[in-house]
Amino acid sequence: MSAFEALTVSTLPVRLGQEAAIRQRVGDDPSAWSVDEVGDGNLNLVFIVRGAAGAVIVKQALPYVRLVGESWPLPLKRSFFEYHALIRQAERDPGMVPEIFHFDEAQAIIVMEFLSPHIILRRALIEGQQLPKIGRDLGNFIARTLFRGSDLAMETRKRKADLALFADNVELCDITENLVFSDPYFEAPLNRHTPGLEAIVTELRADRDMKVEAQRMKHLFAAKAETLLHGDLHTGSVMVTMDDTRVIDPEFAFYGPMAFDVGMLIANFWMSYFSQSGHEAHGPRDAMRAYLLDTVEEIWTTFTIEFTRLWHEERRGILYQASLFEDRNDRLASEQALHGVIHDIWTDMLGFAGVEMHRRILGLAHNADFETIADEAKRAACETKALKFGRHIAVNRTRIHSPADLATLAERLE
Ligand code: ADP
Ligand code: MG
Ligand code: MG
Ligand code: MG
Repeated sequence: MSAFEALTVSTLPVRLGQEAAIRQRVGDDPSAWSVDEVGDGNLNLVFIVRGAAGAVIVKQALPYVRLVGESWPLPLKRSFFEYHALIRQAERDPGMVPEIFHFDEAQAIIVMEFLSPHIILRRALIEGQQLPKIGRDLGNFIARTLFRGSDLAMETRKRKADLALFADNVELCDITENLVFSDPYFEAPLNRHTPGLEAIVTELRADRDMKVEAQRMKHLFAAKAETLLHGDLHTGSVMVTMDDTRVIDPEFAFYGPMAFDVGMLIANFWMSYFSQSGHEAHGPRDAMRAYLLDTVEEIWTTFTIEFTRLWHEERRGILYQASLFEDRNDRLASEQALHGVIHDIWTDMLGFAGVEMHRRILGLAHNADFETIADEAKRAACETKALKFGRHIAVNRTRIHSPADLATLAERLE
């Protein structure tokens, strides 16, 4: 096993030129490959490798956080977790993640399908594109991956082995635990925010109910090892065309609460919603705003419909056994239990979503939705609405009952 070495555009063909899985897809003559580094994420290197036969993506983890530099070490093992999560997601919702061609654990390299002409969903939403399929595709993706990775569906021995495998993703969980749930609520060194937000930031950091709620969400995140999460399911981890949706970048994968993926995903649509007025230079975005609220509703509705179908057709795990319910002719018990599970996901999802909206505006890792609004006063105005919305849904999460309630609230703030 050779020591880790970061790839560069010039060393990549030499180092990976003998890999059959890559040669087959790119071409047999590595000296004719062209390599571009395209990583725009916070953590890793991403290369497109093109040749006569086609193209692949080569993603390599670095032993530190790319966004910050070598002063913030981060284990290469995240590549191992990303690979194992991708394999599981491909089984649980076929066609929704890039195909994997090759994995090198020691070099932290994953070679995968080059998604083209896909673009990052966040960028499409900033441009004002209305993708017709994402509500359904993403709703099904979360239902299938979250249900099928849990004790509702899996043989419990396998689930426990998986729980142990992913339990080692400690450092990436630590990033979420600190950057998402704690840093936004005090003057943490890595925080930054748009000038003009000082008053609301002070207010939020003094908001006892919000701080307690954020820590309750952190408690759930850390303690409720319910299913294999994607762990970083925002609109920058989704690539789209008008008729295809793919989910990438599950390096934060670990066993946690179902509501975390749901809440993080939906929060990013609400942030897109509140950022739209900053992108109206080329025309009004009213239709886009309506589309975003409809999409949130469609994600949630699709999620509940598919989760319900799986509950009835694939509930073979140790929880809510049919032997106690349907087999005893007590279908009502099964429905009651299902509604309880979905209700808890809904309530907790709102808490996670609220916190995610705060940390993207007040913490270290910001969203292009807001960051691309050049006019600071305009950006601060958009972010203020998102901060208020996030606070409301987190603190009132047990008192909000439907996507329609939330649409009304969002429209009122807008
Ligand atoms: P990070 O973990 O550093 O955030 P990502 O996996 O999100 O890395 O990839 C960074 C960028 O590389 C993505 O935003 C996308 O533009 C591009 N990318 C990653 N994977 C693929 C892929 N399979 N096909 C096409 N582009 C990709
Ligand atoms: Mg990413
Ligand atoms: Mg598809
Ligand atoms: Mg990543």
